[in-house]
Amino acid sequence: MILFPDMYLNSIDDLNIKELKQRGFKAIIIDIDNTIIEWNVRVPDERTRRIINEALSEGMRVCLLSNGTKDRVTEFAKALNVPYVYNAGKPRKSPYKKALKLLDVKPEEVAAIGDQIFTDVLGGNRLGLYTILVRPISTNETGWTRFMRRFEKLVLDRYNKNALRNF
Ligand SMILES: [Mg+2]
Repeated sequence: MILFPDMYLNSIDDLNIKELKQRGFKAIIIDIDNTIIEWNVRVPDERTRRIINEALSEGMRVCLLSNGTKDRVTEFAKALNVPYVYNAGKPRKSPYKKALKLLDVKPEEVAAIGDQIFTDVLGGNRLGLYTILVRPISTNETGWTRFMRRFEKLVLDRYNKNALRNF
């Protein structure tokens, strides 16, 4: 199912970088807003730095991939000193291809992490990446994202049923 993530985490804090590394992944492509920081926070916080630094110190390559604006994404990524793609228009394929190029890795070597099914999971799955869905950091959302959460819930209910069946 193209809308199902390969892994679902209750929180970004449960992301196990060492495990990903052991499983052969060489890089992570990670969403910004509500995945690694609250959507309205412009600079990386303690948690962001801890996760990104852990990945880098484990030898993983990191690229930020966001549908956010040039200013927002550039400022955030520069503070972390990692490559980035802005205005991505996920789930389009081209921004992922751009990220893979920046990281110099093959699709099967990458775990893509994000908080939205119809952008992060769908986009990653289209490229054959290993997709990790995390529960959004904040429920303080507006507009389109808020609207799409209702449809996400339908997908998640099915995903959870499937997971129970396969348990
Ligand atoms: Mg997001």
